[in-house]
Amino acid sequence: MKKLGAVVLAILVLGGLGYYIALLQMSDVDESLYSIDLDKVRTLSSSIEGPLPTRVNTEAPVGIEFPGAAVITGWSWAPHQLPIYAYQVVYADGHVMIDAAMSKDQAAIGGGAAFFDDDSYARLMSALSSANQIVFTHEHYDHVGGAVAHPDAIALLDRVRLTDLQLAYPEKWGDVHYPDGALEDYEPLSYDGMMALAPGIVLIEAAGHTPGSQIVYVRRNDGQEYFFIGDVAWNYAGIDQVRTRPNLVSYGFLGEDRARTHAQVAELKQLEAANPEIAIIVGHDAPRTASQIAAGVLGDQFE
Ligand SMILES: [Zn+2]
Repeated sequence: MKKLGAVVLAILVLGGLGYYIALLQMSDVDESLYSIDLDKVRTLSSSIEGPLPTRVNTEAPVGIEFPGAAVITGWSWAPHQLPIYAYQVVYADGHVMIDAAMSKDQAAIGGGAAFFDDDSYARLMSALSSANQIVFTHEHYDHVGGAVAHPDAIALLDRVRLTDLQLAYPEKWGDVHYPDGALEDYEPLSYDGMMALAPGIVLIEAAGHTPGSQIVYVRRNDGQEYFFIGDVAWNYAGIDQVRTRPNLVSYGFLGEDRARTHAQVAELKQLEAANPEIAIIVGHDAPRTASQIAAGVLGDQFE
């Protein structure tokens, strides 16, 4: 009996340790792994001449659901909805799209959509059709999918601005891909650290969640600044509490550089503390996005 008790105890301890490592463990942050030179970003944002954008719109035509425990290390198992946002940066003479969400069929790859709005998806397709440029926070299919599923996907490629790193690891795209040969003559963006994309828009290297992850900085003509961080964190709590996704999700499912995403949320936390006027826009956070819409930082419909 004593032996059995010891075995049961050992199983419980090992099981508990496994659970702790998989879902609860946070290591110390190594801040040397990532930094953003905000002065340099601001300087670059005015390096391309032209009027600055006047407003930024967002919609999430589709959403998925994960247990909270998968979203942020230490969260409860309660179901947590992740809307898939895309963004439209509007200029007087056109617009730039940041991310393209995904179609209903593509949502099925990851277990199906928690919600899908046909009208919103139609507005997304039309905003992609008329975009001057389409850029992506990273190469996961819930961000590039809408561009690939677009009825004129191949014609759109002359305005799609994928980076070399976003194309370098096709496995990161999941099961969503352009048709064979479609990218044969495609010239991806290639930059070291950061690059200006358009008046008021700067791309900032942020490899970690994926090799091709980047943060998109936007400055509006009234001075409002934005950091579109994509999936550096799925929820703002990741930045606020300087926490990443749990080991199980980060290493087990996503193959992330978790130490670097940890350094990124720490850097964003510091950057926001020093510059509270900058709007940090998180890829899948419904309450935060709703409050940013209510505050007039974001418009709630593509035009
Ligand atoms: Zn995502």
